This record gives sequence, structure tokens and C-alpha cells, in this order.
Amino acid sequence: MRWHCEKWNLKENGRTAEKEEETKERKEAVRIERQLGHNRLTDNLIDNFRSYYKKALQENESDLQNIQKAVKASWYIYASIEDNQMHDYCPKGNNSWCKWQKDQANGTSSFKPKNVVPAVMQEILPTFDSLWA
Ligand SMILES: [Zn+2]
Repeated sequence: MRWHCEKWNLKENGRTAEKEEETKERKEAVRIERQLGHNRLTDNLIDNFRSYYKKALQENESDLQNIQKAVKASWYIYASIEDNQMHDYCPKGNNSWCKWQKDQANGTSSFKPKNVVPAVMQEILPTFDSLWA
């Protein structure tokens, strides 16, 4: 009987830990989403970052590290300029969602530079920095 109770308790504790973990991740997701909405960017740029973030959430589900990496990738993509492409955080290969990486793998040139004013990227850097930290 006693053994039975302990076993049950272990199971319950395990379940609680799982739930706490889930809440933590959801909170983090909400925090990131709020931060993204809080910078003074054009609506279009915000929409782009939102869709990157949404995709990051969908593709990585609750893998926080991968979500942060994807957020990082999106900043670097937009901070890239013609002569200095920064795609180290983008997934490599011809299945990548990053057109630049895809081009590298396929020898194509479908990627179009985003040409965001560097000052804007610098302005939002602290926000992104806090997201991927
Ligand atoms: Zn890229």
C-alpha cells in the first residue's frame, strides 16, 4: 500500500514538473512576442519578424534554444548588407527556409538583400539581444 502511494506520488510530481516546464516556455514565448511588438519599426518589418518568430515556434515547438537561434538568425538576415551576408545562424542546405543558404546549396541566386537601414537594426538589437540571451 505504502509503495503504491509513493509510486503514485512520483508520477504526480513528474507531471507537475512537466507542467511547470510548459508554463515557463509559454511565458517566454509571450515575452518574446511582446518585445517584438514594442520596437519602433515599420509595420512591414514587424510583420516579417513576427512571421519568422511564428515559424520558429512552429518548427521548434518547445525547444527554447532553437527558437532563440531562429530569432537570432532573423536579426542577422535583416542586418546583412550586400557585401556582408550574415547567415551563420540560418539552417544550411537546400531545404533551408533561408533563401541565401538555399542559394549556397543550389548555386542559385533567389535571395534578395533586405536593405534595412543599419541604424534601425542597431536600434532593435537590444530587444533581440534580450530575446536570444
Ligand atoms: Zn540566412
